[in-house]
Amino acid sequence: MNLILLGPPGSGKGTQALKLSKQFGFKHISIGDVLRSNVEDRTDLGLSAKKFMQNGDLVPDDVIIGMVESSFKTYLSPESNLTKIIFDGFPRTKSQAISLDSKIQAFGLRLISVVFLDVPDSVVQDRLISRGRDDDSPELVSNRLRVYKDLTEPLLEYYKTKGILTKIDGDRSPDIVFSNLVDMIELKVK
Ligand code: ADP
Repeated sequence: MNLILLGPPGSGKGTQALKLSKQFGFKHISIGDVLRSNVEDRTDLGLSAKKFMQNGDLVPDDVIIGMVESSFKTYLSPESNLTKIIFDGFPRTKSQAISLDSKIQAFGLRLISVVFLDVPDSVVQDRLISRGRDDDSPELVSNRLRVYKDLTEPLLEYYKTKGILTKIDGDRSPDIVFSNLVDMIELKVK
């Protein structure tokens, strides 16, 4: 059983993914975290991703798709026995979504749902600016939100058409959002 968390930056994907991993034993794959640790370690991947992240732009699809492919190899090798993944921050573009679809098919995985954490722009802006990560300055936040609307938001329609989108009101306390998610998962896996 696999889950995709979708939503604007600051919608709480990382927070919820962490709680869900503890509760259900998901492997949490956060593309943002993987990228940040590559930037810190100055790997080739990190060096090529850095300028995009610093500008609040998306890292090019081929880089991201390559990265996710190698996590699949690590986590889904026949001996790993792990088929419970939460994708946090992936997919963010239509071609990433298409690539993930084909991986899911190839590995015979079950996607329980694509969860959209719905949070209004003004709330997201306040949350990010008070979080204060390097890419959380007011200008970068506006750009990241613009990029989200242009490239990622269309995925809502994509998954809605497939009938696997679950919308959750993310503008509530983390515990309440979490209990909604738990209910949703329990219902789907029954
Ligand atoms: P947030 O959800 O708050 O934007 P993330 O940690 O998920 O934070 O992402 C941080 C940055 O990493 C993004 O602004 C982008 O530059 C890059 N990134 C993360 N995921 C992807 C992705 N799937 N495709 C392209 N770039 C990505």
